[in-house]
Amino acid sequence: MPEMTKRDPDCLFCKIVAGEIPSSKVYEDDVCYAFKDIDPQAPVHFLVVPKEHIKSCAAVDGSNSAVVGHIFEVIAKLSAELGLGDGFRVVSNVGEQAGQSVPHLHFHVLSGRDMTWPPG
Ligand code: 5GP
Ligand code: ZN
Repeated sequence: MPEMTKRDPDCLFCKIVAGEIPSSKVYEDDVCYAFKDIDPQAPVHFLVVPKEHIKSCAAVDGSNSAVVGHIFEVIAKLSAELGLGDGFRVVSNVGEQAGQSVPHLHFHVLSGRDMTWPPG
């Protein structure tokens, strides 16, 4: 199981990826897993995470950047399939000050309402 090779045993999203904590699946392949956010901030709000444990965008390097590229292909595909053509936002919080509460890289995909800028 290649997706289980780089796992943090104490990580919430590693447990969700492994199916040890239930989640509402949106999409899955060998590299990534997408599931609905438990506390949605928009009518559409799901998270896309790599199956391997990567701490945040700050830990992306030559050894794992292909995973991030793949995730953005998946986001484009899902946005088309889910009809998010009116617009959507992709957010990844990095570190405590930016509001990262789960230290496993994840991309929020938010849609279905008007968005404001700058973000809070
Ligand atoms: P962050 O705050 O790190 O940017 O995003 C973490 C996100 O994970 C939050 O939006 C939060 O609602 C979501 N979350 C936290 N715990 C769980 C959980 O157990 N299941 C699901 N589906 N989402 C979770
Ligand atoms: Zn993890």
